[in-house]
Amino acid sequence: MAKRITRESARRLLHERFGHDDFRSGQWNPIKAVLGGEDALVVMPTGSGKSLIYQLPGVVLPGLTIVVSPLIALMKDQHDKLSAQGVGSVAMHSHLSTSETREAHRQIAEGEGEILYLTPERFKDRGFFEHLLSRPISLFVVDEAHCVSQWGHDFRPDYLALGGIARRLGRPPVLALTATATAHVQKDIVRQLGMTDPHVTITGFARPNLRFEVMRTVNDGIKDASLRIALREFDGSGVIYVATVKEAERLYEYLAPDFSVGLYHGKRPSADRKYVQDRFMAGELKAIIATNAFGLGIDKQNLRFVIHYHFPGSIEAYYQEAGRAGRDGDPAVCRVLYRVEDKRIQSYFLGGKYPEVQEAAQVALALEKYPLKTPVLLDDIVLLTGIPTRKAKIVFALLKRHGLVREHRGGKWERLGENLTAVDLSHDLQDYEERRAMDQEKLRTMIQFCQTTQCRTRYILEHFGEEVADEWRCENCDACDLLASVPALARGA
Ligand code: ADP
Ligand code: MG
Repeated sequence: MAKRITRESARRLLHERFGHDDFRSGQWNPIKAVLGGEDALVVMPTGSGKSLIYQLPGVVLPGLTIVVSPLIALMKDQHDKLSAQGVGSVAMHSHLSTSETREAHRQIAEGEGEILYLTPERFKDRGFFEHLLSRPISLFVVDEAHCVSQWGHDFRPDYLALGGIARRLGRPPVLALTATATAHVQKDIVRQLGMTDPHVTITGFARPNLRFEVMRTVNDGIKDASLRIALREFDGSGVIYVATVKEAERLYEYLAPDFSVGLYHGKRPSADRKYVQDRFMAGELKAIIATNAFGLGIDKQNLRFVIHYHFPGSIEAYYQEAGRAGRDGDPAVCRVLYRVEDKRIQSYFLGGKYPEVQEAAQVALALEKYPLKTPVLLDDIVLLTGIPTRKAKIVFALLKRHGLVREHRGGKWERLGENLTAVDLSHDLQDYEERRAMDQEKLRTMIQFCQTTQCRTRYILEHFGEEVADEWRCENCDACDLLASVPALARGA
């Protein structure tokens, strides 16, 4: 069902149907690929226009374009926009009323609509699946495709079935879209969705208005002093990211007498957090001193700086946090106060993330001391064993997977099996070993970013898999400054 059209006629269609003048970078190549019957994987940042990559083929291709999306809100949003543009689409999800669901079934059965949005669970409805089988499907799209990977941060078990579903639907070309995928997650997407030699587009991660700097510091005294200098030097407002609650509080005490700063971390009452956030959004604060609890859902476009007092555990986390600067496109500075010893803080977090076999056994033994059919507070087990809550939770989740415990409201767990320690969790825990190794690798990459003498933007872009021309440098980072001032370095002398 391949359909070859020229870029010129595609552009005309883009204008007529979607009202855009031209393709953005990264859009046309994957469109051409899927129209030509190829599979395609697209990794582009949020807001870069990934939806169009299936919407335009959806209009061109004769059969139905199916789009699997994990979030009903995203789906509704796209559906409404398409309707406004006169593109026929149908959205199927659990928030529809019975009559709306019936209407959607009818539309699908009668061949209406060019694009069908679905949450992955919808495929479990057999009657609905029969309707789908009766229609020619031209393209199978998986939006937010990182959800397919167990290594990703938003793993959705229902996504694992999608490869098989595409096959049962006659295996149309598969298009996978995501804003976040390490090389490892990309491989996972391709494998899990059964994609064959896909066309790959990774682009758009550059943020030319962001200036990256890493300041080498030998102790916290120097860091503290340089924060003061930075707060005087930088225009506008920004964020100072700190790895621990304790350090965030210390820095707040230190800076508050002289600067209008706010404190934000997960251990503060939510009313206080909201108060600080509101003042920050209203432009009343020079800076907010925050742990990584701060950020999700923060949409302040004009942050002029993001300073990392401690470097985070991965480039992904770093770029997400630093990338909150300069959303308005105006110049902004992203500065890391680097001290190699800070690695210990991140290693400490990593050590506390996943349980070891011995710790799993301790949790199981502690729970066995309670009678069957008696819900026990997770906190009690934590107190009894001294094992951190996070790890204890993972052990309970594993026991649950084996049908040995049941979860109750309020953080309580009930034992179902007689002999919890008899089951072998080592296989499950092996998974965590692998994760631990990957986390270590990510941390190493972050440290390399701080230590590199090459262009920092290049380092980040290459990390995300973007192709960067050999000679290219951002000329807007401390490393590029150094190269410019010592030309012999640039020539590799
Ligand atoms: P993503 O899924 O990558 O986060 P979206 O597909 O939601 O991004 O698109 C973000 C915005 O970009 C939308 O408002 C969309 O209309 C707009 N957009 C997409 N392609 C173009 C284009 N070629 N020209 C102008 N605007 C575009
Ligand atoms: Mg999107």
